[in-house]
Parts: sequence; structure tokens; C-alpha cells
Amino acid sequence: MQKHQFQTQVSDLLNLMIHSLYSNKEIFLRELISNASDALDKLNYLCLTNDDYKSLQYTPRIDIKLDKEAKTLIITDNGIGMDEDDLINNLGTIARSGTKGFIESMSGDAKKDSSLIGQFGVGFYSAFMVANKIEVISRKALSSDAYKWSSDTNGYEISKSTLDSHGTQITLYLNDDEFTDSFRIENIITKYSNHIPYPIYMDRDEWVAPQDENKEGHYESKNSQINKASALWRMSKSTLKDSDYNDFYKQISHDSSDPLLHIHTKAEGKIEYSTLFYIPSTQPFDLFRVDYQSGVKLYVKRVFITDDAKELLPPYLRFVRGVMDVEDIPLNVSREILQENKILTAVKDQSVKKILSELEKLLNNDKEKYSKLYSLFGNVIKEGLYGFNANKDNILNLCLFKSTLNDKPITLKEYKAAMKEDQKSIYYISGQNESMLRNSPLLEGFKSKGINVLICDEEIDTIVLPMVNEYDSIPFKSINSSDIDSEITSSEISTSDETNALISKIKEILKDEVKDVKISNRLSDSVACLIYDKNDPDYAMQTLLKQMGQEAPKIKPILEINPNHEIIAKLANNELMINDVAILILNMAKISEGMSIENPSEFSSKLAKIISKAL
Ligand code: ADP
Ligand code: MG
Repeated sequence: MQKHQFQTQVSDLLNLMIHSLYSNKEIFLRELISNASDALDKLNYLCLTNDDYKSLQYTPRIDIKLDKEAKTLIITDNGIGMDEDDLINNLGTIARSGTKGFIESMSGDAKKDSSLIGQFGVGFYSAFMVANKIEVISRKALSSDAYKWSSDTNGYEISKSTLDSHGTQITLYLNDDEFTDSFRIENIITKYSNHIPYPIYMDRDEWVAPQDENKEGHYESKNSQINKASALWRMSKSTLKDSDYNDFYKQISHDSSDPLLHIHTKAEGKIEYSTLFYIPSTQPFDLFRVDYQSGVKLYVKRVFITDDAKELLPPYLRFVRGVMDVEDIPLNVSREILQENKILTAVKDQSVKKILSELEKLLNNDKEKYSKLYSLFGNVIKEGLYGFNANKDNILNLCLFKSTLNDKPITLKEYKAAMKEDQKSIYYISGQNESMLRNSPLLEGFKSKGINVLICDEEIDTIVLPMVNEYDSIPFKSINSSDIDSEITSSEISTSDETNALISKIKEILKDEVKDVKISNRLSDSVACLIYDKNDPDYAMQTLLKQMGQEAPKIKPILEINPNHEIIAKLANNELMINDVAILILNMAKISEGMSIENPSEFSSKLAKIISKAL
């Protein structure tokens, strides 16, 4: 017999689960059954694709046996099984994201946190919430050796053992009486595992009366199948209720709340497939992590192939959970085939189109629900605007924008419908602070003309909106771009020689700071504003690049000056203080754009000088 210590991470995790998730202990059974089902999936797949396994005769099943007296619960499957190394690697260490990520993602809400268990690949350990001792006896398919792994929360031992069939038998020595009630166990199974595709049999340890006493009925048999064991996504829509869909969602997602939406498709044309997609009502914990887990499982002809293929849906739909079951591709699909198979590619494309169109339907039919969905996943969906994407217009249709003229977020369709007759473009301003954006001097011309401007204050906006050239044939334009000026002004402003001379002087004074100084006709109240050459990244983009650790070359803005402003008029008559005033004007423009000024003490001393003069 060999004694082993748990990997430190495992010990930490066990303590954590036992002490903080005790209010939602029942999920341990969901996790163990989900593992049993995975093990059957793996063997099933091997039998169909690998000649070595073809001779194996077995009927996949999961058995649950409750022994009240001994206070044990035994979960058995005849799946792939584990050898000695598997037991050590799978049950003694944490392979995937690790405890740290798990702890970081915990919210303190037991219900929410218990859904993280399955998502993190630490489901097996949840059994320690209800048992102080666990024994796992396992025999790997095609092998005649069985091993016993037995453990309390400190460490585990491995020894030789025997098992009738290949597969795994897990015995839980229950802590207290909470789970020795067969009705309770049965309810947990139907609640979480009804649509596991394999039959689950329950050995009740007694003959039990029907639960509903008013109902005439016979005693339940001692050993019977208690789940539906159906591939739900293959069933016809008309036979399924919302609750069926929701239960199945909880099973595959390990999430405990109902999804916002399900999208069930059965295609029977040229390409045959069934897909069932869900939009969750909470953000998966790893939504914004590079190493996120795919939420879509691939089946071929009902046989589980993989749940680790991120290619099934594009990254901007990575919050979608569900199942894709395709008819006419070979079972032994490899990674390469996943990427190149024409049929699968077609199913993927159609799935994306279907999901986008269903989201649009929801937007049109239930804007409140859609807004909830958008607040959770809008920023992820917008990632689809980056680079080339054949569905760009569909994605743009799904985007909601704050704007200067509307209280509530609007769609681009709504923006377009309310455009002024002579308006040439869809205008937006982007940056990281909504109130700063709303008060930007750049908006003055638009406000006075009653033209709506989209206020884009999400980080992702700064990255993707410059890549949107147009929507429904209308150009998309940032209002801090140099080529917008003429669009929003009807007439050229005529300037005097005096003003022109003044501008040249200011340009000379500020030549190290700005690319150019120009007369503006987009301002009404402010003295100046900063814009960017239409090919330069703007300030918001520069800030973002810096935050991401990219050293971008310093881009000089263009200073636009309002020739009608009092300061300019007076300055033209009295150039005594022009050096100080030029710098003040530049810094004022920077401040109103939310930019930092490089030399604040110089700024305040110059300002102090002017104020004292004025007083
Ligand atoms: P996950 O299922 O997300 O991988 P778990 O903690 O639930 O994480 O399980 C850890 C691993 O232990 C599984 O990936 C699997 O390799 C192995 N395992 C657990 N239960 C079984 C079982 N009944 N049969 C075969 N292998 C199992
Ligand atoms: Mg698991």
C-alpha cells in the first residue's frame, strides 16, 4: 500500500469547499454523475473508433446504491475506468485552472460558487463536502488490474483491488444523515442529471411507497431507472417544455440559474444536424480570460466527441453554452478535421448566423431581456467587429449605444432612422469616462445643429469602432477626426488677416506640442479643442495602448481654435501675454478632453499670473 499526500492546491481546495459551500452540498452528486457520464462517453467513443476496443461487450449504465445502515452511497459506472497513474494524476492533483483562480472567482454566495466547481474541473473533490472518507475502485477498460484509491481529507492511499467490470466505483462514507434518504437522492438526480444520456439506476435499499399519498399506486420497485436518459437536443421541440430545456442547461453548464434564452435547431436539409444553444443569465467566470473553456460540446451521430474545441464558435460568442450534433462526419475527427471539415464548417457558419439572428429577434421582441443579456455579453459580442467578419452588419445590429440625444441606449437602426436629412455619417465619440465625453467641446457643433452623437465609453469601443467603416452604407466617424469639420458646418468661416497672423504665432509657440493649429468651425462656446489627424490613433486609443504595455510613438494632436471666442478677439488686440495664453489654451483643451497635462505647476503659475492681472 502506498501513502500519498495531496498536492497543496488540493488540500487548500478541500478546506475551502468544506467550509464555504456547505449550504449547497447536494451538487456533489451532480458532479460525480457527470464524471461517470464523461467516462462512458470516452469509452463509447473508443469502441466506435479504435479497433482494440471493438470486442468489448457492455451496456453503458450508472448505478447508485444507498446503504442506510452503513451510511454509504456508492456510485458505479462501467465507463473507461482509471489505472494507477490515472488515479494519482486525476484525483490527487488539479489539472486545469487551479485553486487560485477558483478562490479568486468565489463570490461568497454558495449557490453561485457551487456552479464554479464544475466549471473549474474540480468536481470530484466536492464529494468531500458530504463524506469524510472516499474510496474509489477503478479498472481501466482492456486491463484486468483494478486499483483502490482511498482517502480522507489529508491524503490518500493506493492499493491493488478487484472490480467485476471495467469502470469506476466510488463509495462515499457519509458525514451525517442528510443524504441517506433515498427520496432526497432521487430528487437530486432528477433535478441535475435527468438528461445524462445513459440510464441511471437506483438501488433504494428498501421498497418505497409512492411519494404522493393520494395517488393510487404501487410500491416503487427496489431497483429502477430514474432518469430520462435522452439526448434532449435530438427530441422534437414540440415535446419539450421550458423546464426540460432549463434542466438540461444546468446539467451541461454546471450553472445553477436558468438561462436567458435557448436556441434549438434541427436541420434536415443537405446537411443534417441538431444544435441546442443557450445564453446564460450570468457571466461564466472565465469570460475575460485568455484560457477560457469552450461551452459547446461536439457530438457526431449522438456520440460525444469533445467539449474542448474552441473552434466550434467564434470567440465573440464564447459565452454560449450548448451542444452541436452533426450527422455526416467521421467519428474519429481529429483537431485538423475540426478545422477543415466542410460539413462542420457549414454547421458552424449556420450556427453563428442562427445565434445572431435569434439575438436580434430578442432585441426586437423583448428589449428589457435583451438589455440584460447585452449588459452581460455586449462587450464580448462587440469583439466580433474586430478585423474581417462577414457578419459585421449583423453584429452592428445587436449593438446598443448611449447617445447625446437619447436617454436610453439605442440601436444603429434607430440612430439611422432619426438622422438629419443632410447628415452624411454616423458620429461617435469614444473614451473611458462618460461624463467627460458628454461635456467634450467637440460636441458643441453637433449640439447646436441637433445632430445625435453616440457616446462610446467602453474600452472595447476604442479598439473596435475605428475598424467599423460603415453601417448600412453610412460611414462611421469619430468626431475627433480632422476630416469631419466641413461636414457639420454649412458655411466656411471667414477670418481676418489679424486672426490668421495670430494663429501662426500660436502655432510657432506650440510647435513642439501640436501637429498643427487651425481655425475651427465646430466650436461655439469653448475657445479650443483637440482633434486628431484622420489616420492617427486618438487619445483614447493611445491611452489604451499604453495600458496594454505597448510603447506607441507620441502622436501630436491638432489644436483647433474658435476664432469667435472672446479670448481670441482680445488676444489679437493685445499680444503681450501671447506666450502664456497659448500654453493655457492648449492645456484647457487637454483638460476638457480628460487628458493629463504634462506640467501642472507651470500651468497653475501661468493661470495665477493671468488671474491676478484680471483682478
Ligand atoms: P473534470 O471532470 O472537470 O475533469 P473532476 O474533478 O470532476 O474534474 O474530475 C477529475 C478527473 O478525474 C476527470 O477529468 C477524470 O479524468 C477523472 N475521473 C473522475 N471520475 C471518474 C470516473 N468515474 N471514471 C473515470 N475517470 C474519472
Ligand atoms: Mg467533473
